[in-house]
Amino acid sequence: MLVVMDKNATDEQVQAVVAVIERQGYTARPIPGGDRVSIGVLNNPGPVDPTLFIGLPGVKEAVPITKPYKLVSRESKSDDTVVDVGGIKIGASQIVLIAGPCAIESEDQALAIAELVSKTGATIFRGGAFKPRTSPYSFQGLGEKGLEILARVRQVTGMPVVTEAMDCESFGLVEKYADMIQIGARNMQNFSLLKRAGQSHIPVLLKRGLSATVEEWLMAAEYILEGGNTQVVLCERGVRTFVRHSRNTLDLSAVAVIKRESHLPVIVDPSHAAGRRDQVLPLARAAAAMGCHGLMVEVHHHPEEALSDGAQSLYPDQFARLSRETSQLYNLLYAKEGQSS
Ligand code: PEP
Ligand code: MN
Repeated sequence: MLVVMDKNATDEQVQAVVAVIERQGYTARPIPGGDRVSIGVLNNPGPVDPTLFIGLPGVKEAVPITKPYKLVSRESKSDDTVVDVGGIKIGASQIVLIAGPCAIESEDQALAIAELVSKTGATIFRGGAFKPRTSPYSFQGLGEKGLEILARVRQVTGMPVVTEAMDCESFGLVEKYADMIQIGARNMQNFSLLKRAGQSHIPVLLKRGLSATVEEWLMAAEYILEGGNTQVVLCERGVRTFVRHSRNTLDLSAVAVIKRESHLPVIVDPSHAAGRRDQVLPLARAAAAMGCHGLMVEVHHHPEEALSDGAQSLYPDQFARLSRETSQLYNLLYAKEGQSS
């Protein structure tokens, strides 16, 4: 159930509706929209009686929500959510480019790559300090030292930084350094981590699980919003299929579905989808043409020496081309209307 308030409803009227919801033993979650507030009714074991709200001062309507996800759905909020990452807006009129190495390897490496990508269109820097690796013998990341390097990159280049938190134990530490916290594909259904992210004041980048349906992915995002953190960006990064010509299969139709079903911004990571450098630019072009709100791309100045994901990391000049072409495509298709639908 969603209680939609009049455009000029007062705070007292909103509070009165919240009180009615809470008296029933349900949870009320006000959702500020473009020009009016709606209040989501959560934790109701059965259908909610709309007559509880109809006729209350300031209430426009009470509408049942038909989807299993509520707070993330367009039914609960029709206008696009814009997520502010250290001053960079994801979900607004520009396509946002997030770039950097798979893993932070050293200060020199991170700064060299950051300076190159920031000159060619990236506005957010990425790099893992805690790495989820398939093999326990592979490079696991520099841990807190990597986070310190990310803070140094922000100080030197002015770019906000996104990095992964792999577990609840290290979440607080990552929160101290990052402008946006990534929850990786392997953790998309780590429900305690999602609940912890729901308590954070920092935006969350939620990657799609390796074999998750769009509905499961949206339900994972629902955990974060239900916890109170509305600043969530979804990231399509390819799903596991039978093909051998790429690491994963980029599911671009998911971008269209998310844009229809949810108000949250959706970005695309062509690097982890492809697993190989030669496919990254074509996939990125296609993603920009789909109207995704951003791209996350792995870039390395010496990919052959990278400690992780070198095969899919672009050379800096390849990233410069990707940046140019995807921005042109996006602007051609979407920027004039100032929207991406
Ligand atoms: C990453 O972005 O570094 C990463 C590990 O991605 P994913 O969780 O999508 O595999
Ligand atoms: Mn990687």
